[in-house]
Amino acid sequence: MAVNEEELKLIVSQVVKQMQGTMDMPKTQLGIFNDMNTAIAAAKDAQKIMQRMPMDIREKIISCIRKLTRENEETLAKMAVEETGMGNVGDKILKHQLLAEKTPGTEDITTTAWSGDRGLTLIEMGPFGVIGAICPCTNPSETILCNAIGMIAGGNTIVFCPHPQAIKTSLFAVDLINRASIEAGGPCNVAVALQNPTVESTNIMMKHPDIHLIAATGGPGVVTAVLSSGKRGIGAGAGNPPALVDETADIRKAARDIVNGCTFDNNLPCIAEKEVVAVDSIADELIHWMLKEDDCYMISKEEQEKLIGVVFTKGKSLNRKCVGRDAKTLLSMIGVHAPANIRCIIFEGEKEHPLISEELMMPILGIVRAKDIDDAIEKAVWLEHGCRHSAHMHSKNIDNLTRFGQAVDTAIFVKNAPSYAALGFGGEGYCTFTIASRTGEGLTSAKTFTKSRRCVMSDSLCIR
Ligand code: NAD
Repeated sequence: MAVNEEELKLIVSQVVKQMQGTMDMPKTQLGIFNDMNTAIAAAKDAQKIMQRMPMDIREKIISCIRKLTRENEETLAKMAVEETGMGNVGDKILKHQLLAEKTPGTEDITTTAWSGDRGLTLIEMGPFGVIGAICPCTNPSETILCNAIGMIAGGNTIVFCPHPQAIKTSLFAVDLINRASIEAGGPCNVAVALQNPTVESTNIMMKHPDIHLIAATGGPGVVTAVLSSGKRGIGAGAGNPPALVDETADIRKAARDIVNGCTFDNNLPCIAEKEVVAVDSIADELIHWMLKEDDCYMISKEEQEKLIGVVFTKGKSLNRKCVGRDAKTLLSMIGVHAPANIRCIIFEGEKEHPLISEELMMPILGIVRAKDIDDAIEKAVWLEHGCRHSAHMHSKNIDNLTRFGQAVDTAIFVKNAPSYAALGFGGEGYCTFTIASRTGEGLTSAKTFTKSRRCVMSDSLCIR
């Protein structure tokens, strides 16, 4: 690796500042600051170094992130559950394994070339510089580590804005990324974050002149804020994914797949099945298998009312104490002591039922009956609320599958499998935890975090 004098000076000054403790950084964790402007300046310095380094070093940093993620998967999973109270350790471990193994690195970034009589033209994908990445509390370290792999592959460094409810876990992940970089011969501060992030500090980041791209993974509020910032924004927002089941499906398997997808990490993934729309002729059979084989508990009308009272606050927003809790805990909140095996709460209701039409992120699965496939498609499209995020279907009729896929128009459409197949878990394809539903990039990867640059050599370098 050839390091020029300017880069050498930057590296030396980074090390000296760190040794002197003048970088506003606690000794124990790397990349953590108290002030947003200082954090961005440090990430900018690191990006200058990164941009001049060979792609090979980026790939080595990514390999180290993958390795450290695997080594710390249990720690991160336990820390997130303890800190946020959401999800479960076993599934969070799986999510870390998935991101470490299946998030694309530098191989995702390709060059396009044209050569001919008038020379050689290339489209090369270059970094944006410092990217602002706003992350959710539902998959805190998964989003940070997965974003870091893609963004570093693109040659960027990152200012992370974690959710205040998941600071400890998020800062642990930011520290790991910097350790990975240093181990691979890269700079420190490839990822930075604040010790105490707030909405105000995120706003400073969004307005900062050195931030040219912002990736927001979260609910509608943050995505709207980013898209109103005047900067280029990647909006990975909320969904309310329906699972549609028609009369041609393998009903027993559909029941199992839907419950497995819905209960994965206690329904925290934004792609997870949030409700079912079942064609009338098979609805009873579907419920039968869910109750008989898939550890579901059917709640009565009275219990539904009690659950509405617990799940929503008086102001009708989601009660954060219920998000990502397991079925037994939710049932105990309404005085129901369910058998130990219960992992999903089910009931039948109209599509307007609040436990069906709202994105809950809890293993509560309302089942809406439809008289036929036309009615089912109409109801499922309504329930997706135009988020264009995710929808799932169980069917063997390719016409029905095609019609629903076209009508619902989502970034993700899983057929005959649990929703997590979309993340590469039991399905083909790569992994991401940032699904840009609102802005249309879909499942983000390294190339999403690069900008297109045309490089033209006129009348030379064509050797055909
Ligand atoms: P959230 O919207 O409450 O918070 C997400 C992040 O945005 C946090 O860091 C928060 O501090 C920040 N934030 C919120 N409002 C803001 C504002 N006005 N200005 C600046 N920053 C703001 O979401 P959450 O509860 O952490 O995560 C769950 C939500 O995220 C769900 O709606 C889920 O569907 C969605 N989500 C989407 C994806 C995706 O890839 N599309 C992935 C994960 C989660």
